[in-house]
Amino acid sequence: MLGYRTKNFAEIDFHCKCNCGEVAKLELVNTLQEVREALGAPLYVNSTMRCVDHNEFVGGSKKSYHIRGLAVDLSTRNLSEGQIIALKEIAVEHGFLGLGFYDHFIHLDLRNELTIWDKRNK
Ligand SMILES: [Zn+2]
Ligand SMILES: [Zn+2]
Repeated sequence: MLGYRTKNFAEIDFHCKCNCGEVAKLELVNTLQEVREALGAPLYVNSTMRCVDHNEFVGGSKKSYHIRGLAVDLSTRNLSEGQIIALKEIAVEHGFLGLGFYDHFIHLDLRNELTIWDKRNK
């Protein structure tokens, strides 16, 4: 098991929540830290790495980038509308080309082609 910790994120942020010991890819860890610094506001991680079993448990897509350790879900509860727009632009600039908007979180992943979806109800 490899542990990653950055200036603004804890080791636990990058572990699968089922305690299987799988961790997110270093590329995800570093890119997320870069985005955090560019945004200049706290970002709270809901999840990053999900092993196949845990991804199935939470009802994630079989093709989810979480399984590859290349995705993060960030809570948006602490962010203003303006900060969410800034986060979107900064994320794309740093290589998060998969962006999913939900009511209380944003999904970012390191796919190669810009793909944006919006599942917000409000
Ligand atoms: Zn797991
Ligand atoms: Zn996600």
